[in-house]
Amino acid sequence: MAPVDTKTYDYIVLGGGSGGSGSARRAAGWYGAKTLIIESGRSGGTCVNVGCVPKKMSWNFATINETLEVGRYYGYDIPENININYNHFKNIRDSVIKRLNGAYERNWNREGIDLVHGRAHFVEPKVIEVGHEDGSTVRYTAPHILIATGGRPSIPKIKGAEHGITSDGFFEIEELPPKMAVVGAGYIAVELAGVMAAVGVETHMYIRGDQFLRKFDPMIQKTMTERYELSGVHIHKNHAGFKEVQLVKDGKGKDRVLKLIYPSGEEVLVNELLWAVGRAPEVEDLNLDIPGVKTNHAGYIAVDEYQNTSVEGIYALGDVTGQAELTPVAIAAGRQLGSRLFGPPALKSSKLSYENIPTVVFAHPEVGSIGLTEPQARQRFGDDKIKIYHTRFTAMYYDVMPPEEKKKNPTEMKLICVGPEEKIVGLHILGLGVGEMLQGFGVAVKMGATKQDFDSCVAIHPTSAEELVTLR
Ligand SMILES: Cc1cc2nc3c(=O)[nH]c(=O)nc-3n(C[C@H](O)[C@H](O)[C@H](O)COP(=O)(O)OP(=O)(O)OC[C@H]3O[C@@H](n4cnc5c(N)ncnc54)[C@H](O)[C@@H]3O)c2cc1C
Repeated sequence: MAPVDTKTYDYIVLGGGSGGSGSARRAAGWYGAKTLIIESGRSGGTCVNVGCVPKKMSWNFATINETLEVGRYYGYDIPENININYNHFKNIRDSVIKRLNGAYERNWNREGIDLVHGRAHFVEPKVIEVGHEDGSTVRYTAPHILIATGGRPSIPKIKGAEHGITSDGFFEIEELPPKMAVVGAGYIAVELAGVMAAVGVETHMYIRGDQFLRKFDPMIQKTMTERYELSGVHIHKNHAGFKEVQLVKDGKGKDRVLKLIYPSGEEVLVNELLWAVGRAPEVEDLNLDIPGVKTNHAGYIAVDEYQNTSVEGIYALGDVTGQAELTPVAIAAGRQLGSRLFGPPALKSSKLSYENIPTVVFAHPEVGSIGLTEPQARQRFGDDKIKIYHTRFTAMYYDVMPPEEKKKNPTEMKLICVGPEEKIVGLHILGLGVGEMLQGFGVAVKMGATKQDFDSCVAIHPTSAEELVTLR
């Protein structure tokens, strides 16, 4: 066998997603490190291709239908049966994503980052091999190697599970299915079910407990589950899982039929099935045993607060580490690492603080959350140290609706404060516009704001956000 040529870099980044790109750009663009990104799929990773971007665009698409419904109450003469050209929307969404793929690659190119498309794996502790479709392989080495290979959606191990789709497949749908089953209770299940329900798809959610969004504050779990039910989503609670899935008819939209079989033998027919039952780290074919990179019990790469793995010179961040699986987290961790490895001495201990990360669920309505949930705060500080401020109301936007419609559109807010100074350790909001609202309040919470700081800020009237600075 001919000897394999090995190319040398300062920094090799496995995965050109949010974290990999953020880190490579900091290393090369700011500090001139000779950097290589190896990407096996489409540039930009999950967020751009099958995550945040197509998801938020779909949320926007669905929100327009909700706005049309409210519009009727304002006096707009909007016909009941509006034709939604979903395929048109999908094509537009695809073209936006394609543009972003190009933007990522242009940015890398401008900053002098080399890009290799292919699947990477370790062949020696500091040597990466990339296989190409034609069977050829190339090897690369660097003193610093970052694993930012992200994750992928999981599918339950039941007969016929492959007939269902995951969030990746959700963005391949070309025609709206008249009836859809969504299995899962996390934010991806809630967001994607919300999109479908808002555009008139008969949506069935199958959840293990009796509320979804179980990692969020109980207020959010309760109100959002009730809100989805009130707005017509069929929520099948305490669901024990399906035994089998059968493909009855292959096709698109109404022409696709799946049979879902319960353990009891009971059957239900749907036009699409979405598995949103969690994600797993993308590590299987990396040969982590060659350098000896350790994973934790759930298979995620174990890292310290500086993103160091168990092997010197090999780092990991983003979804592959299972830490706060969000795009800005991966980007921020990547930039900090780039600065730490290649920046000036003053940055040699750069790291990301994982405390108080704001997050939004693009549900219907949106949910925003930062800091501790009420049970977490009570457990950490003790019941006697905690003070809760809470409000629930209907945003003025919905005032034109009759009471039974208004109650389907709650806005709810909770502040969790600690100690005599009432430091805010948790802020949870749901309702119209809270996604945009949270970013600013997030800065305040991150700075250590107290209830008094909130109160000292003059309200902006009339808004929903003003309620957060006038809570009694
Ligand atoms: C449906 C959905 C909606 C989401 N919505 C949001 C949101 O609204 N806001 C938010 O902040 N986050 C959201 N996220 C999460 C966000 O997308 C991820 O947290 C983020 O993309 C993680 O970045 P990463 O760099 O760790 O991994 P990724 O972006 O997944 O990048 C990893 C890259 O590595 C590549 N790769 C994998 N294995 C190899 C290999 N062996 N060799 C070479 N390349 C490899 C992959 O092809 C991929 O491009 C969403 C995720 C999903 C699934």
